[in-house]
Formats: sequence, structure tokens, C-alpha cells
Amino acid sequence: MMRKDVSALIQRAEAGADLAREELACLLSLEGEGQKALFAAADRVRARTVGDGVHLRGLIEFSNICRMDCCYCGIRRSNRRVRRYRMTPGEIVEAAQSASRLGYGSVVLQSGEGDALNPEELAGVVREIKATTPLAVTLSVGERTREEYALWREAGADRFLLRHETADPDLFARLRPGRRLEQRLQCLQWLRELGYQVGSGFMVGLPGQTALTLADDILLLKRLNVEMAGIGPFIPAPDTPLADAPAGTAQQTLNAVACVRLVIPDAHVPATTALGSIHPRGRQLALACGANVIMPNVTPGRYREHYQLYPNKICLREEPEHCAPCVTALVLGEGRFVATGPGHSPRWTA
Ligand code: SF4
Repeated sequence: MMRKDVSALIQRAEAGADLAREELACLLSLEGEGQKALFAAADRVRARTVGDGVHLRGLIEFSNICRMDCCYCGIRRSNRRVRRYRMTPGEIVEAAQSASRLGYGSVVLQSGEGDALNPEELAGVVREIKATTPLAVTLSVGERTREEYALWREAGADRFLLRHETADPDLFARLRPGRRLEQRLQCLQWLRELGYQVGSGFMVGLPGQTALTLADDILLLKRLNVEMAGIGPFIPAPDTPLADAPAGTAQQTLNAVACVRLVIPDAHVPATTALGSIHPRGRQLALACGANVIMPNVTPGRYREHYQLYPNKICLREEPEHCAPCVTALVLGEGRFVATGPGHSPRWTA
């Protein structure tokens, strides 16, 4: 595309026009001056729609036990090198309460897929956190039954994160043996019907992915009308079938972050830890091209090193109280401020 055509396309995207798949693929492939213009447009849209506040969500990785065998994941079932753990309900509640004391407005309870806690136990944890703190609670525990999602919603869970990972059904089936994209989309539909604020997202740089399939990922997020969109680079993990595959790049991932901001202007978009793990300023760069959320890890230090979906993850050795000032400094260093309160979606009315 000519330079003036790229400018016109970015202007249309910034004005909220519906972009065709090929147009999005063009934006996703931009480099140099075009990329700078894309980032600037996404930053303006972010400022206009969700403001300059950066929401901090405390992440509690409460178990690395998983029944699934996703080809890209370091804690997949068949990786025998992983030391498995599960935090007790009391430890999870305590971690959430300490996140609240650190000033975070919400926590994300994340685990591998499976019953590290049975559904009732997890519901009890949600109830206890809601009863003893002002925190919003997000769950990220994979594909479950509608009844389980309903149980946790009734217990008080506000949000659910379930990344679709890739909108290409064949690639999805290859990467997640035994599962189909269709089932994942059914889960996302149930979450929507149950009244959760819904988060989804995808990886950038998966083997077999193209700019067009990435455009499909973004168009799927738009169709799902997600409140939260998490985009991180694919990072090959040792002891997995994709150990030798090339990683996604920070530049590709940032282009995807910027495009998501333009396509779903009011979504909460994290500057992901994975991006910070492949580029020393990955999270800062994401904040400058559309992101408005950071998820500091509040998992107790003794468990953290065993939750490595990918290698060289940052902040593995820190304790929660060390992360808080560090992340605050990062946010202020970008000319932004730490938002207070639960940080619900601007569309949330409950
Ligand atoms: S990506 Fe999630 S579901 Fe898949 S193996 Fe890893 S923890 Fe389990």
C-alpha cells in the first residue's frame, strides 16, 4: 500500500469504521513510519475511551495442575519436569486479601484446567474474597460446564478470562489436542449469557499463523464484543512439541495490541507479562499503543517458579510487596497513573 493509503486506512480505523479482514491484515503488518502512525492512533483512542489510568489486577496462579496437553504450554499435562502444586483455599483468600492491602482493585484467580479445587471449593473462595474485601474477582480456569460457570457467577465472580488463542479452527485443533474451537466459543457464549464481563484473546506468532488469521482473531474478539482482550506473543517453552519453533516478536504483538484498541475502543487491554518477558520494555511499549491494564503477580513466591507457561518469565523471584512499587513506577514512568477501584468495564452496569 502507498503511504497515503496507509494514513487513510489508519484514519478510518481511528474514526471507528468497520475494517475488512484484508485491511486489518495490512495494519498488522505495518513497520517503520506506518507503524508509528498506527501506535499514535491507538494511543489517542485509548486516551479518549478508557483514559490515562492503568488498572492493576493482582494475578494469583493458584494451581499448575492441568488435564490438557496444549502444544505451546510449559505446564501441559505430559510435561513431567513440572513440580505440581495447588494452593489451599485459605492461601488463595489470604493472597487476595494481601493484594487488596497493596491497593489493587481486583484479582485474577488462574489455574490449569482441572479440579485443583473442586467447583464448590472455588465458589467458597470467591464468596470469602467478596465478603472480606472490595475486590472484583476474575476467574481464569479454562473450559468448564455451564453449571460450574453459573455456580461461580452466583458466588460473586465478576469476570472470566478465556482466551480463544487462535481463530483458525484447524490450527486450534492441532495446538490443543482433543479440543475444538467451537467448544471454546460455546464456553464464551455461556459466560456472556451468565452475565460475566468476558475476556478473551490470542497469541501472536504461532507456527502456521498469518496476518490474515491474526485479522480473524481480532474480528472474532469484535464479534464476541469482549470487555477484555489479552494479546501476548507465542514464546516456545522447553519440553513441549513447539520447543524449537520461532517465537512471536514484540513488534508483531504491539501491532496486534494497537489494532485491538482501534477495533474495540472501550476494551480493557493488558500490557502482558509475556510481552515484558521477550522485550525489556515490552509492557511500557504496549501502554503507549493501546494497553491500559497490568497484571502484577501476587502468587506467593514459593509457588511462582512452578507456573511457567513459557521460559524466562519476568518477576519470578519477587514477592507481591516488591512488585507493587515496581509496577507503580513503571506506570508513572509512562506519564500515566494507577487507577483505583475495581476497574470494571465502562459498559458494566451491574
Ligand atoms: S494452556 Fe491452559 S489448558 Fe492448555 S495445557 Fe496450559 S494450562 Fe492447561
